[in-house]
Amino acid sequence: MSERFRIFRAPAGSILSRTSGFIATAGFTHSLTPARNCTFGCTYCYVPTMRMQGGLQPDDWRRWGQFTTFKENAAALLVRALRPEQRIYCSPLVDPYQPAEESERRMPELLDALLERPPSVFVLQTRGPLVLRDLSRLAALNRRTTLRISFSLTTNRDEVRRWYEPHCAPFEERLAAVAALCDAGLAVHATLAPLLPCDPEILATAALQATVEPLIADPFHVRSVKRHGATTRPESEAISRVRGFECWHEPEFQRGIVERIARVASAAGREFGVGAEAFAWLARERSLQWTE
Ligand code: SF4
Repeated sequence: MSERFRIFRAPAGSILSRTSGFIATAGFTHSLTPARNCTFGCTYCYVPTMRMQGGLQPDDWRRWGQFTTFKENAAALLVRALRPEQRIYCSPLVDPYQPAEESERRMPELLDALLERPPSVFVLQTRGPLVLRDLSRLAALNRRTTLRISFSLTTNRDEVRRWYEPHCAPFEERLAAVAALCDAGLAVHATLAPLLPCDPEILATAALQATVEPLIADPFHVRSVKRHGATTRPESEAISRVRGFECWHEPEFQRGIVERIARVASAAGREFGVGAEAFAWLARERSLQWTE
């Protein structure tokens, strides 16, 4: 086991949660969260700021990323909870392909449950190239339901990645993972979220070249604009102060960055959006081409 984080297991009472707020507005009916606490431990992560509302325990938000607790009965619960009309987002509270998943291997059995009883839509939100480990299961699920993968690309600058999200893969490795998922015929959205300090044109161009689905972005959440709910973790604001990137937390500056990305997408003839409206692209059903 890695010395950087510890892995715990505990039985859960349920595995699918009814959605509310942003995810419900986008069109998802349920969320699926295989673990509590995420060993990527990103400095900006919104989840620990949700505290009890995110189903966390005090140790989770105090020691975010230092351990995770997997739901050991997740697959058994899921197979009983799945219904054909559900639109499921996995996950608003943890990356399903976080580092601890490499040894835990919780996702293959969850994907097997989904293959057994496919919902209407299933979306994986991840930044982990580990997702490629489950490519054959994902390809099979893609033939049974609307599967979308929203892959987070946050910055093209590797020093920025090391400052804000040191346990996440470098940009080039993530782009290679996106390309491999696309090559397998999966619907992959590049999600530029949160927008870390970057070269917007370079980031957007690479994301557009790697994918064919609409491009999604979301700047750092800012308390002055978003009064309630989850927000940017203070650790990243401290990094921004030290590195001279405070402007990336200012709404006016963020609008300028989003406009620059929009111009790149428009020139490429591609759809681009931010917020719940763009997120709704992920919840859309597609017509299936049955090949088996
Ligand atoms: S991968 Fe997502 S859930 Fe995990 S720490 Fe980073 S932002 Fe939070």
